[in-house]
Amino acid sequence: MKKDEITKIKQLLKTPKKIVIVPHKNPDGDAIGSTLGLYHFLLKHKQHVKIIAPNDYPDFLKWMPGESEILKYDSQKEESDVLISQADVIFTLDFNALNRTGDMEEALSTSDALKIMIDHHQQPDSYATYMYSDVSMSSTCEMVYNFISMLGDKNLIDADISSCLYAGILTDTGSFRFPSTTSKTHQVAGDLIDNGANHSEIYNQIFDNSSYERMQLLGRALSNLKVLPEYRTAYITLSQNELNEFNFKKGDTEGFVNYALSLNNIIFAAIFIEDSQNNIIKISLRSKGDFSVNDFSRAHFEGGGHTNAAGGKSELNLISTVENFISILPSYKNALNNE
Ligand code: 5GP
Ligand code: MN
Repeated sequence: MKKDEITKIKQLLKTPKKIVIVPHKNPDGDAIGSTLGLYHFLLKHKQHVKIIAPNDYPDFLKWMPGESEILKYDSQKEESDVLISQADVIFTLDFNALNRTGDMEEALSTSDALKIMIDHHQQPDSYATYMYSDVSMSSTCEMVYNFISMLGDKNLIDADISSCLYAGILTDTGSFRFPSTTSKTHQVAGDLIDNGANHSEIYNQIFDNSSYERMQLLGRALSNLKVLPEYRTAYITLSQNELNEFNFKKGDTEGFVNYALSLNNIIFAAIFIEDSQNNIIKISLRSKGDFSVNDFSRAHFEGGGHTNAAGGKSELNLISTVENFISILPSYKNALNNE
């Protein structure tokens, strides 16, 4: 972020403003952790702050301090629309195109509020007044830490801020294993631990918190796993019936796609999850090395994300979606085998 932008934001925070913070739809650990981390920080500046999430998120994120204050746009639309239309400042966190907020897009795009983007996804749109966009960052949470630091307010980072930001760094780095994890990421995490984040407890809350049914669903996902060795690709399918069989809850399939990517000699992995309510197949894509699933998803599945982790969707049925996916692979055969 530019120095003069930081100066302007500092000036802005000197007097109380009406501030709304927004994460992307189907928020993950980084989205919720970064919005809550920023929320607690702005409260210390005596700001009037509300977080509005487009919709609900998994239970394994609901331990975070301040979480119960988050409004959900899909069930609290009227109240949310008033807050958005009256806001002086809107922070958009962990996404870079307003359509990533689903039904909130219209309210956000018509609002006159000054908009500040903090995000690490590729190819940002230009809706924001001030943009802190850096695709090399491990997580939006690491960026919120940097943002606080740039404002000269590191001394304000307390245990609540630390716990929220640590949680998002932990989830978005795959527990510090993805290539986006740098020594700086570890230093930031270390500082957050020094300021009160209980790393072991946070890990337990997020990862050692599975229901028996989720484990059974994982078993089904793994038995549905298919491998296409000539494309170094593996994929998993889960139909709506299978989800129902194991009493699926939001977040239950989180991380499943990584099992496909953990296979020997596989560098491209996908999971196709049927969502009958929205009449789509939700797709998660993961890769190793330079094969860009962001590009792949943008080209074929109306999505995007990062080089090694992206999402998308298909309006075909589950079987046709998989057939379509397989039919696309030959044109990537070289790219997949040159990795
Ligand atoms: P996931 O597969 O875990 O849902 O998402 C992987 C990454 O891609 C995340 O950073 C997420 O924000 C992004 N992502 C997921 N779905 C979409 C989508 O439909 N469009 C775009 N642009 N990004 C997505
Ligand atoms: Mn993120």
